[in-house]
Amino acid sequence: MQLKINPSEVKDIVEFIKNYDKRKIKIMEVCGTHTMSIAKSGIKTILPENIKLISGPGCPVCVTAINRIDEILTLSQNPKVLIATFGDMLKVPGSRQGFNLATLKSMGAKVEVVYSAMDAISIAENNPDFEVVFLGIGFETTAPGTAVAIKEAKERNIKNFSVFSMHKFVEPALRALLDSKEIEIDAFICPGHVSTILGIKGFRFLADDYKKPSVISGFEPEDILTAIYKIIMQFEKNIAIIENEYMRIVTLEGNEFAQRIMEDVFEPVDDIWRGIGIIPKSGMGIKDTYCDFDTVKRFDIKLDFKDKLTICKCGDIIKGKIEPKECSLFAKLCSPENPIGPCMVSSEGACAAYYKYLRF
Ligand code: SF4
Repeated sequence: MQLKINPSEVKDIVEFIKNYDKRKIKIMEVCGTHTMSIAKSGIKTILPENIKLISGPGCPVCVTAINRIDEILTLSQNPKVLIATFGDMLKVPGSRQGFNLATLKSMGAKVEVVYSAMDAISIAENNPDFEVVFLGIGFETTAPGTAVAIKEAKERNIKNFSVFSMHKFVEPALRALLDSKEIEIDAFICPGHVSTILGIKGFRFLADDYKKPSVISGFEPEDILTAIYKIIMQFEKNIAIIENEYMRIVTLEGNEFAQRIMEDVFEPVDDIWRGIGIIPKSGMGIKDTYCDFDTVKRFDIKLDFKDKLTICKCGDIIKGKIEPKECSLFAKLCSPENPIGPCMVSSEGACAAYYKYLRF
């Protein structure tokens, strides 16, 4: 796919950014895929001291509260249950260190890795003696796929399939971060994947309500550099607007079919986020019309919303308060082989990105 800027412009953009010294700008890259691309490409190494990139709450595994992980681990102990999950969830520890879905699988729990919610339906059909529970994680990007699977299961009357929905909306989390004023954020690189679904209009609130220069960006280093350049230019012009640097994919209205299917199956519910706590109407609960496919209702799970203490600092990392290297466990007690928290497990986690590309 062709980028909309040519290499000579990228060279000019790099030179411009490297030499920009007019003001301090702290930019949050919301999406975990951006965090990984920034680390891999070495973009941070060319930034001047006054331009800072900080990670945001855009890694689905990382924002899942430890409470939910504990509930999943408990559910996996039910001999009738088969957990179907994306691979990233396997090694996320619960409150009890050393225990995760992978270790419990080695001790006999039924856990299968899938690539989509539809795969979990196939597993349910092939395993009629088990209750197949799909772990629904992610934002507006993955939620439509889960919604399609729930509708399919209802249409085909599949009785042994349900979804533990931990899907979340991005907007309430960004509003919560900005409203809390816990950290200073001057501008945003908005997530390309979520924008594909929500469209440019999904992130207008950043400029309209908070006066934050914001750019929707793709994931190539050239995209991210262009987004940084455009943010700087907004500050230079003293404006705050939402710009779309990812025009080859993202439209004004987004994917309206995906939006409709999400609205049909999910409704906003209060949800708990790692490090942030409860954010009103930030979670995607399964509507009553589809309650037969809601794991929480089927197994009568009493969801826990209390804060749980943990030595892991992922909560501060996804709020952009600290960088992975500022966690005393980073690359010492905590590594991809022995992850203490989800940010080191997930392929989109900031700690994993720093460990792989920025450790030395
Ligand atoms: Fe958590 Fe490990 Fe990252 Fe520290 S280095 S914040 S313990 S995942």
